[in-house]
Amino acid sequence: MSKLRFDVVQDAFKKKAVAVDTPDARPSEYFGELVFNREKMHKYLDIKTYNALIDCIDNGKPLDRETADHVAAGMKTWALAHGVTHITHWFQPLTEGTAEKHDSFMDYDNKGGMIETFDGKSLAQQEPDASSFPSGGIRATFEARGYTAWDPTSPVFIQDDTLCIPTVFIAYTGEALDYKTPLKKALKAVNDAALPICKMFDPKVKKVYSYLGWEQEYFLVDEDLYAARPDLMLTGRTLMGHASSKNQQLDDHYFGAIPSRVMAFMRDIEIAGYKLGIPLKTRHNEVAPNQFELAPIFGETNLSNDQNQLIMNTMNAVARKHGFVVLMHEKPFDGINGSGKHNNWSLGTDTGTLLLAPGKDSKGNLQFVTFFVNVLAAVQKYNALLKASIASATNAHRLGANEAPPAIVSAFLGKTMTDVLHKLLEVPSDTPIEIAGKKGKSVGLVEIPEIFIDNTDRNRTSPFAFTGNRFEFRAVGSSANCANAMTTLNAAVADQLTEFKAAVDKEMAAGKSMNIAIMDTLKPIIKKIINVICFDGNGYSDEWQKEAKKRGLDVETCVPQMFKAFTEKQNIEMFTRMGVYTEKELEARNEVRWEIYSKKVQIEARVMGLMAINNIIPAALAYQTKLLDNIAKIKELFPNKYQQMAKVEIELVEKISERVTDIHDKVYAMIEARKVANKITDEYEKAMAYYKIAESLFAIRKPIDKLEEVVDNDMWPLPKYRELLFIN
Ligand code: ADP
Ligand code: MG
Repeated sequence: MSKLRFDVVQDAFKKKAVAVDTPDARPSEYFGELVFNREKMHKYLDIKTYNALIDCIDNGKPLDRETADHVAAGMKTWALAHGVTHITHWFQPLTEGTAEKHDSFMDYDNKGGMIETFDGKSLAQQEPDASSFPSGGIRATFEARGYTAWDPTSPVFIQDDTLCIPTVFIAYTGEALDYKTPLKKALKAVNDAALPICKMFDPKVKKVYSYLGWEQEYFLVDEDLYAARPDLMLTGRTLMGHASSKNQQLDDHYFGAIPSRVMAFMRDIEIAGYKLGIPLKTRHNEVAPNQFELAPIFGETNLSNDQNQLIMNTMNAVARKHGFVVLMHEKPFDGINGSGKHNNWSLGTDTGTLLLAPGKDSKGNLQFVTFFVNVLAAVQKYNALLKASIASATNAHRLGANEAPPAIVSAFLGKTMTDVLHKLLEVPSDTPIEIAGKKGKSVGLVEIPEIFIDNTDRNRTSPFAFTGNRFEFRAVGSSANCANAMTTLNAAVADQLTEFKAAVDKEMAAGKSMNIAIMDTLKPIIKKIINVICFDGNGYSDEWQKEAKKRGLDVETCVPQMFKAFTEKQNIEMFTRMGVYTEKELEARNEVRWEIYSKKVQIEARVMGLMAINNIIPAALAYQTKLLDNIAKIKELFPNKYQQMAKVEIELVEKISERVTDIHDKVYAMIEARKVANKITDEYEKAMAYYKIAESLFAIRKPIDKLEEVVDNDMWPLPKYRELLFIN
């Protein structure tokens, strides 16, 4: 095995970049080639069908079956021209990733032959035999019906030979069984709440969109090295591994030159992404070795989230072509940065106004401040809930570590906006609002043009940061479906805006002008938030932990406990008021969360136990035997001074015995703890038991990593950090 490791490492190092099959055309020409977008709709549908479909997409008008038949026929013609043979409803169950079940177009033509068919019914609805998707008890297996239903607002696309139809997934009894359904409900809620406010400023506004721009971080590992690590293969992270002497301490990876094998992968993924209509914009190295990032231009949240799910799948497939495996886990390696997925979020109108960017004049600024303050109020009121929305067994390794947002949700405003809020509290309510824009600044070198300085600085330690025209919700995990965070954030903001509008209406009914009514309503909110949710200091510091607690922010760090926020009275009420989740759905989802948490830890614990007993202890004992042989031989030849001569060997033998015993005892204690945990039937209690087991994995890891330091390098069975992280 040790020989094998050495060979694998050598081979991995020698691998060269795979040639990329670059299309002849420019990206703008093949962008959206595999998407049934408006251009294709126009080309493949008659005008009546086209108009009906657009009305459905833009204005939520229902689509009748006959029109759906016409749409399906047009899609089929387009798909067949691309060699498509199958269709699938593509949905996002409460597992990780997406689900699909392929049906071919084939049917009897009743003339003795076969024909490709696809009608409105198969487009609109499918009934996957889905009894084994998580439902948190909503659907017992005996009533296992679940339906997928077409979401026309996210365009149909082609993957390989399959036409993929984005769908929601709901139970026979109507409850949502997926991520998309509640997200769409939250997006509707935020439109319903924000629109009346926007109309006060501009009666022409017809729709408010929620926007999402995700930044996907990931690691790449050579696939052969990956295959030699059972922990990576089964859990997505390394459960053991001594730190590499060089890791990220030189800060030389961030924005560094992209290695050629990785560059080839990135180009390939961009080509695939463009064809799928994903507007990829940014690619770069991240802070940790072998860590990278990919980000698109932001878009409407439902579509942008579908695209994130799609690109995650595509990345996995494309990586294999390049001999890599993508790690989306939030913390694949101990001691270096983990991966997140910043969710850049904002609201905007169909008239092109970004509601979280300063306006052109004082009226625009008032609208901006209105939304800005209400977002902060929502984040304050629902801070525990927002944290619950990003919590998971895997993200737990990242939060609170000295690299990612702490396990406390606070908001960073930057100096400009902090000053604006303070000033608003001092001046009369009819004072026009001024906000300093980007300032020109000379670099001090004549040949360098003036640069423009943003009105916010960066604060990497904040989980929810204002960055000029949007907020960045940074606590989201790299492997997560953004929908969970986006549903919660949009619903919370919708609720706050609704409450705010009602208060403003009351003020106006009492005779106040719009501006004064708005400012008079905003001021008490600003007072309430300015010294609570707003925090521009160092989120990593110990003082902040204490300070946050004093301010009444949620400081819970135990993940199964965090989930409880979803079923707290205030939060159930908010979600039901906004029509996003029913109480039953919230309870069911928590059952699923706890269950997934326990299972994830259970798998890690099993893998850890087996690797410790099957891989690590045997390697340590083999080396110990070698040492003992050596000692025996020295003793034979030098019976009088062997103790002095073999001092190092004897000490090592003792050390190895100690550590082996330690590992062995801890593993068996963990197995016992698992037996106890597995008997618990209540999902929350079980998850709490597994939370303790998760902590015990650290304790098992320690002596293993210590052994890695002393055992003969040739005899160590697993690729080491230095090998996993520096080969590309
Ligand atoms: P960084 O945060 O690392 O500086 P970028 O400036 O590249 O990253 O932007 C990150 C993401 O934010 C991109 O997906 C970008 O499209 C998105 N973004 C920019 N403005 C907005 C906005 N108003 N609403 C939502 N997302 C936005
Ligand atoms: Mg960012």
